[in-house]
Amino acid sequence: DGLDADTRKLTDKRSKVLGESYRLFYRKPVHLVRGEGQYLWDAAGNKYLDVYNNVASIGHCHPAVIEAVNQQMKMLNTHTRYLHERILDYSEELLATTPDAIDRAMYMCTGSEANDLAIRVARAFSGGTGIIVSQEAYHGTSDLTSGASPALGTGQPLAPTTRLVPPPDHYRVNAPDLGEWFANEIQKQIDDMKAHGIKFAGFLADSIFSSDGVLPNPPGFLQKAVDVVHANGGIFIADEVQPGFARTGDAFWGFARHGVVPDVVTTGKPMGNGIPVSGLLAKSDVLAAFSDEIPYFNTFGGNPVAMAAAQAVLKVIKEEGLQEHSRVVGAKLQAELAKLMARHEAIGDVRGAGLFIGFELVSDRSSKTPDKALALDLIEKLRDHHVLTSVAGPYGNVLKLRPPLAFQESDIDWLVGALDKSLTELGR
Ligand code: PMP
Repeated sequence: DGLDADTRKLTDKRSKVLGESYRLFYRKPVHLVRGEGQYLWDAAGNKYLDVYNNVASIGHCHPAVIEAVNQQMKMLNTHTRYLHERILDYSEELLATTPDAIDRAMYMCTGSEANDLAIRVARAFSGGTGIIVSQEAYHGTSDLTSGASPALGTGQPLAPTTRLVPPPDHYRVNAPDLGEWFANEIQKQIDDMKAHGIKFAGFLADSIFSSDGVLPNPPGFLQKAVDVVHANGGIFIADEVQPGFARTGDAFWGFARHGVVPDVVTTGKPMGNGIPVSGLLAKSDVLAAFSDEIPYFNTFGGNPVAMAAAQAVLKVIKEEGLQEHSRVVGAKLQAELAKLMARHEAIGDVRGAGLFIGFELVSDRSSKTPDKALALDLIEKLRDHHVLTSVAGPYGNVLKLRPPLAFQESDIDWLVGALDKSLTELGR
């Protein structure tokens, strides 16, 4: 299988000691030992350009996070049953980035926990149980969230109260008004719930539809969908685990690109730059029905060290101007990627918002036939050129280009050059 001794040793050990549902990236797995900014190094000393990891969002091993966590860890780390300033200061800072109506914050450790709580909040508020998600959505590992995560495949049954809508795919859906088309798909599912005696509770969506293939356009298309959700007594939960924290460039939050105000916002991945911290932000009146009945305590959620990391991340985003950086560098990268279309027929579409770009591969541009095999070969080739990324979408044919926001204009040549060479090497 061509694996070197180091790789072989680690993969053998993994298969002996780890639970078997873990999946590695790459036919020849990468053994990383160090990270800095947008770069990663493997055990043999090779340097990689990271074009995939939005967790180390402000850059791998950012000194501001290391320092903040270190200082707080030395001083105190307890939980939310004692008074502490950090959680309050951070909540004020974080809620200042959301629309005024969103005025409450709660903290957990993972995106799954945030979405799990959001579904419970939706149910308490609406008195219903039905949840709508997109066809390729991923929202988490808990029973409630995996029951609303069709991306997990047929081995994971959806909850009987879950309904799916097709991806709002600007490239593939032929409708004069994508927003109206999408809102109509949501209405159809609400009607189907009704027909089966299920009361609608809410629509849970990642506002950039990452696992549906990265679908950001046109900005504003979500407005009509959110109107339909509200007209039917449900809430809109914006899963900002991927698009949040300045990623899309146009706005701090993905939902803000659409001009909508969610009832609940969930966050995770980039919030602590790798320290486990996630959050649920909500309108107080939406949260009330849940909070009045059920106490919430999350042992590690919102602890002083987690809050120190989150505070440092927010400060760096502001001080380093990372939202504007993402907008400007993302637009330049997108333009360079689009230029590759003149050289490679296999590229069907390039789309994105800020440093969150979908690069779609097709076997034929006019029929838009998805080319999953090429996408899989391409990520392996890119790995050989020391560029790390992965695929998304219902056909697995969209490269998800989502580097740490530390990605610089000077990195564009490496990425675009590697894509160009790789596609040529693959005869495409
Ligand atoms: N929502 C979205 C959109 C995600 O991408 C993920 C993680 N891939 C989650 C929720 C779950 O987050 P976590 O893995 O932190 O539980």
